[in-house]
Amino acid sequence: MNPRVLITAGPTREFIDPVRYLSNRSSGKMGYALAAAAQEVGAAVTVISGPTNQTAPEPVVIVPVISAEEMATAVAEQSPQADIIIMAAAVCDFRPRSRSPQKIKKAAFGMQLDLEATPDILSTLGRSKRVGQLLVGFALETADLVDNARAKLQQKNVDLIIANHADALDADRNQVTVLDRSGNIEEWPEMTKKQLAQRLIERIVQAWHS
Ligand code: C5P
Repeated sequence: MNPRVLITAGPTREFIDPVRYLSNRSSGKMGYALAAAAQEVGAAVTVISGPTNQTAPEPVVIVPVISAEEMATAVAEQSPQADIIIMAAAVCDFRPRSRSPQKIKKAAFGMQLDLEATPDILSTLGRSKRVGQLLVGFALETADLVDNARAKLQQKNVDLIIANHADALDADRNQVTVLDRSGNIEEWPEMTKKQLAQRLIERIVQAWHS
């Protein structure tokens, strides 16, 4: 049986006013490469995508979103039907507490932005995970990669964590460490995101079958 795969990709944008937002350097390349690789092995693929320039091969279904809140809503709608969920999106962890309806004037220079946490989509999925559903998260770190990734695996109740460094952002190549719930830690060699996506999908589908 071919799995139904749900992938999140790209950054989110958290608006300060109608023209300005907080975001990050994510390009969506990894998420879209995973979508193409999953489609190649016969999976039915849906991508919930933040704003990116990436394209996916037919018949991958793209659900466009902008903010973390919209991504959370779309994931809540799509996830019950998915066998495998891969959270490759670089969801903004915080957002302005309020969004100004008007463009903030230059005269406000020196102002402080009041921030609040966005919903942690992966943690929510970890709590509602059903039997037979495989949850894969990413951990992007600038220090203590494996320790932080291991902590995330536990705290967010995911089955696999793909840990990578910040230099993976917007790059065509990536080097990852894959951690699973049995405590295995696999350090993979650097390769293109396309090759990596193919190997990751193979690893993820194998984990789902077992
Ligand atoms: O906690 P951290 O942001 O490092 O966790 C990374 C993982 O959690 C990624 O898989 C990311 O897609 C997911 N995440 C999320 N919701 C957030 C922040 C991160 O689902 N608000």
